[in-house]
Amino acid sequence: ANGIDNLQPLETTISDVERFKDTAFVILNCPSCDNEFPFGGIVASNYYTVCFNGIQCKKCEHIFSTIQFTSQLERCIRSHISLYYAGWLHCDDRTCGNVTRQISVFGKRCLMDGCTGVMRYRYTDKQLYNQLLYFDSLFDCKKIKNRELKPLYQFGDIHAPKEPLNELTVNALTEQNRELFQINHDVVQKYLNDCGRRYVHMGSIFEFMTM
Ligand SMILES: [Zn+2]
Ligand SMILES: [Zn+2]
Ligand SMILES: [Zn+2]
Repeated sequence: ANGIDNLQPLETTISDVERFKDTAFVILNCPSCDNEFPFGGIVASNYYTVCFNGIQCKKCEHIFSTIQFTSQLERCIRSHISLYYAGWLHCDDRTCGNVTRQISVFGKRCLMDGCTGVMRYRYTDKQLYNQLLYFDSLFDCKKIKNRELKPLYQFGDIHAPKEPLNELTVNALTEQNRELFQINHDVVQKYLNDCGRRYVHMGSIFEFMTM
């Protein structure tokens, strides 16, 4: 590797596109027909539509009640948090691949015989923080209207919808769902505030593990 790989842009200069590159989508499960699909906010999808009174499954036309949606969002957030707390470490030496929850008395040193690799958290506090920031962006009316949400599909994906939503539709739907989005925004904020404090804290204490 050359030195340029190690140069990280300042946190504040990173765009959402870059910041959310590796984040996971919210996976929704339709309570009526059991269809499962990724949710990416008010964007075009072949599986759901955001209508004037909520999120609707395209397969069976069921509209999620507020609690149906919010509880699934919350479950999704919790699954990411428990993944983080599971504390899996992996060796950064690609030829080793040691994965463990055991922290060596030598800290970051890999315990495999003769391996010189460094153990790192598989799901870092920074990753969790970015994941929560991504969930937050889904319910951020300003970002939705500016159409800054992370796209659900890559170009050429067979699941990708043919047409993006037009600006007028996005703006109208954002206003019509403002209350629902505020509720979900608050849900994410609750976890984000917790995590934010921990992030700052952990960053200084466990710096050697989270680089
Ligand atoms: Zn359905
Ligand atoms: Zn190793
Ligand atoms: Zn926000």
